[in-house]
Amino acid sequence: MEKCYFCKGKLTRERVNHLHRWGEKMIFFENVEAEVCKQCGETYFPPESLALMDKKTKLLSTPEKTISIPLVTL
Ligand SMILES: [Zn+2]
Repeated sequence: MEKCYFCKGKLTRERVNHLHRWGEKMIFFENVEAEVCKQCGETYFPPESLALMDKKTKLLSTPEKTISIPLVTL
C-alpha cells in the first residue's frame, strides 16, 4: 500500500508500538513494522507483521493448569 485508505496521505514505513488483541488476550508489542500515514496517523500492518504477532501471541497462550512444586533445601 502506498497511500492512506482514509485520507490518501503518504505512508511511511516505521516501527511502532501496538496493543494486539487476540480473543480475550491483549499483548503489547514493541517495534512492530508498519506503514504509518503522515497525514492522519492511521497505522497499517503488513501481512508479515500480523503473522508474526499472531505467532508470538499463540506462543504465549496460557497453559491449562499451573502447578506448584514445593522446594526444600536440606
Ligand atoms: Zn491518512
